[in-house]
Amino acid sequence: MTRIFCIGELLIDFVAENQGSDLSVANEFTKKAGGAPANVACAIAKLGGKSNFIGCVGKDPFGTFLLNVLNQENVDISLAQRSKKFTTLAFVSIAEDGERDFVFSRGADKELKYDSTIRNKFQGHMVHFGAATALLGGGLEEAYGHYLFDAITKDCFISFDPNYRVDLWKDKEESFIKKSLAYVEKSHLCKFSLEEALLLSGKETVEEACIKLHEVGAEIITVTLGKDGTYVSTPQSQKTIASIPVNPVDTTGAGDAFIGCLLYQIAKLDDSGSLATNFDLLCNMVGMANKAGAITTTQYGAIVALPSLEQLQA
Ligand code: ATP
Repeated sequence: MTRIFCIGELLIDFVAENQGSDLSVANEFTKKAGGAPANVACAIAKLGGKSNFIGCVGKDPFGTFLLNVLNQENVDISLAQRSKKFTTLAFVSIAEDGERDFVFSRGADKELKYDSTIRNKFQGHMVHFGAATALLGGGLEEAYGHYLFDAITKDCFISFDPNYRVDLWKDKEESFIKKSLAYVEKSHLCKFSLEEALLLSGKETVEEACIKLHEVGAEIITVTLGKDGTYVSTPQSQKTIASIPVNPVDTTGAGDAFIGCLLYQIAKLDDSGSLATNFDLLCNMVGMANKAGAITTTQYGAIVALPSLEQLQA
């Protein structure tokens, strides 16, 4: 079975309990496993797919907690690394005005060291770059560049999600755009939010944005639109696939569930390279991935809310 290597950050999200207060007054926090590429690895494994996580956590109890979560979700963590630096922490609260209050303490995730022996495991498999913190510098960014090169030379199906976070890229948008476009250029599949597609393309509509981003290189583009579904685009065809109506309680991780489910389905194809020219099949797959995203919004938390294959098929 085709494996999907998910590379990037795994961190602790400390989520303030009493929403409506900013971090200066929030008293209680719940510890949660976070990090988009790690969520994607969990989403794939929960559906029965084979996923590996490549990233770095600290040699501290938080690092142990995070790797235990992935292990329990059946993600292969044999390629994960541990550093003397503390595990990366994010503190999050939603203030009274609805704005996200966010403090980020970057530690072990940026310590990832490139391992050239992994290259041989890539042959014919899939690699997902769920950027988020990866393009912010450090060993992780360096490793990203090497693994991108390895994925190209080993005929991997390459997937990219920039996971733009306003808080992390304040006053550095130009750098975010430049670094992300290098991955768009080399990827078979790109998953964007509408904000990301417009930011990276400099265009004003999703249609124009996708035309521009196809010119950069991406063969298949999905732009997730929350309750409005997903815009799917190839250079030849475009369509919006409606979402599944649900009563959402927490949308955290819906995008990761979406891309995890799409990659899981692509991994089962005999010839993933021809997907861009089979638009009906692609749209069917996106419909299923929309369902995974929708189900994830009906429970609190990103990883616990990910659907199993049985739930998806029900
Ligand atoms: P994330 O915050 O995880 O990065 P995202 O912005 O990448 O999320 P969303 O657009 O929020 O991704 O959600 C991904 C997919 O999940 C959507 O394309 C849609 O199919 C589904 N989804 C999300 N929110 C809802 C909702 N309220 N109702 C139904 N489906 C939803």
